[in-house]
Amino acid sequence: MNPFPYSNDNKRYKSIAYENSLQGMKTYKAVIDAGFTCPNIDGTKGAGGCIYCDGGSGYFTACAAVSIEKQLTDELSRIRKKVPDALAIAYFQSHSNTYAPVSKLRALFEAALSHEGISGLSIATRADCLSPDVLDYLAELNTRTRLTVELGLQTIFDETAAIINRGHSFSEFTEGYNALEERGIRVTVHIINGLPNETLNMMVETARTIGKMRPDGVKIHLLHVITGTPLCEMYERGEYVPMSLSDYVETVVRQLEVLPPETTIERLTGDGDQKTLVAPIWSQDKIRVLGTIDKLMASEDTWQGRLFVCPQNEFGVKK
Ligand code: SF4
Repeated sequence: MNPFPYSNDNKRYKSIAYENSLQGMKTYKAVIDAGFTCPNIDGTKGAGGCIYCDGGSGYFTACAAVSIEKQLTDELSRIRKKVPDALAIAYFQSHSNTYAPVSKLRALFEAALSHEGISGLSIATRADCLSPDVLDYLAELNTRTRLTVELGLQTIFDETAAIINRGHSFSEFTEGYNALEERGIRVTVHIINGLPNETLNMMVETARTIGKMRPDGVKIHLLHVITGTPLCEMYERGEYVPMSLSDYVETVVRQLEVLPPETTIERLTGDGDQKTLVAPIWSQDKIRVLGTIDKLMASEDTWQGRLFVCPQNEFGVKK
C-alpha cells in the first residue's frame, strides 16, 4: 500500500499530475519563447551565461521571432490533438522572462492571457530579475489569474554557483523568493543534480534547505551536457563526468525524503533536446528514469517528506 497521502497512483511524491487532478481537469503547458535575454548573457552580470546554457553560447530558438499569439495557437493545437477541450498555462520558459521593462512584460503577458484557451501564466526567471515595479505588476497579475513564478536556483552553494557562472548568490535568491512569497505568489524552485564538484550530501542539502522555505513547487533536473556549451568543452577535456542513472535516482530519492510532503514535484527529469544532447544519453529514456525512482522508493518503503523536519523560520518566509 502507498503510505503517501498526496497521490492517487503509485507515486510516492506529490506529482504535478496529482495536483492538476484535484482541479478536475488536465492542464498543459503551452511553451513560449518571447525573445528575452538574461543579465548573465548580456554583460550586466556576466557574459556567456551559465556553463550549461545553450542560450549563453549564442543560440536562441527560432520561436522568438514568432508572435505570442501564433506560438500559443500552435501549442494549443498540439495539445488539443491529445485532449480536445484542454486548457493550458502559457509558459514563458526561455531565458529570464522578467528581465525587461514592465511595459514590455505587460504587453507580452496580457497578450498571452487574452488568448483563447489560456487559463494562467507560468513565468521562468532569476531571483535577481525581480525589481520593485516588476514585483508590483506580478502581484497585480496574481489577483486575476493562476500565476506561478519559476526561479532557477540550481544549488544553494555559492562555490558551485561560481563554477557554473550563475552570476547571483544564494542570498540574492532568498531575497527574490521572499519578495514573491510575501505577495502570495506561487513559486516553483528549480534545482539541478550533477553540477561540477557536487556530492550527494551537497545535493541533498540543497533540497533540505529549499524544503525549509516551503516552496509551492520544485523541479528537479539532471545536468545535461549540450553541444556548443562550455560544459561540453569541460566534458570533452575529461573535466566533467555526468551522473549515472543509479546515482541520479539515489540522489532524487534522498532529496524527496527531505522536501515537505505538500510541495508539488513538477519535474524529476530534464527535457534535453535530443539533437543537441551529448550526455548523459540514458536521460532520454524518461519512462525508465521515472520508473526506477518509483521502484527504489517502493523497495525502501520511503516517500516524499519522510525525513522532512518542520523548521524554524530561518529565511524570513511567511508560511
Ligand atoms: S540564468 Fe538561465 S538563461 Fe541565464 S545564462 Fe543561466 S541558464 Fe542561461
